[in-house]
Amino acid sequence: MNIQVLGAHNCESQNSRFISLLIDDILVIDAGGLTSSLSFAAQQKIKAILLTHQHYDHIRDVPAIAMNFYLCGATINIYSTQPVYNALTTYLLDGKLYPKFLEQPQENPTIKFSLIKPYKIEQIEGYSVLAVKVNHAVPTVGYQITSSDGKILFYTGDTGPGLAGCWEQVSPQLLITEVTATNKYEEFAKESGHLTPSLLRQELTSFQGIKGYLPQVVVVHMNPELEREIETEIAAVAQALNNSITLAYEGMQLRL
Ligand SMILES: [Zn+2]
Ligand SMILES: [Zn+2]
Repeated sequence: MNIQVLGAHNCESQNSRFISLLIDDILVIDAGGLTSSLSFAAQQKIKAILLTHQHYDHIRDVPAIAMNFYLCGATINIYSTQPVYNALTTYLLDGKLYPKFLEQPQENPTIKFSLIKPYKIEQIEGYSVLAVKVNHAVPTVGYQITSSDGKILFYTGDTGPGLAGCWEQVSPQLLITEVTATNKYEEFAKESGHLTPSLLRQELTSFQGIKGYLPQVVVVHMNPELEREIETEIAAVAQALNNSITLAYEGMQLRL
């Protein structure tokens, strides 16, 4: 399994993009910084997009990639839970700001949408996909992706602390999770459903207690303004847990 981090941050600039992960060139999780990261040819290879939740930094490029597929007469598969589907059809692809790509063109709509149920394994483009609920301000699922050769990735999406129930469902070799802010923003993180380095440490300790091991950990969703400080605090967590924890960056390649 080859994982490319297209967008690794919660804010966009010349040097940072919203969250998006590309697996083996064909499967995408979250569509924050998706289209601006890929050539048209690379976009055309994408078979399916999984969405974790409705926040704009995770779905913003859905209309953009749909327009590119529409203009080629191609279709794209998008998967999410019911709340994300409701938000997309009500507020985004509603025919006012962006075309209704779920209904147009009438004879063969650009977006083929499939609903995902948490805790029910789906076969998608040759991968086993398991959606697991996490703790965020809106309904959010993480995705465990298992390849045909048995490599396992779990990406939490945006989440706050309290993941013990989630850890019971997954057994990844690589965990991609979020750290949005530094330790001094712990109250903000708990209220808004995000992690800090010290909250991540507690969650990883919980993971180790439940699963008996720690996976390789890669962190995304950093606030760029706080990133240097987050990096320092994460290094201390990695040392304390004696485990690999690295901050992702745009263009980062991970192999499983
Ligand atoms: Zn969010
Ligand atoms: Zn986010």
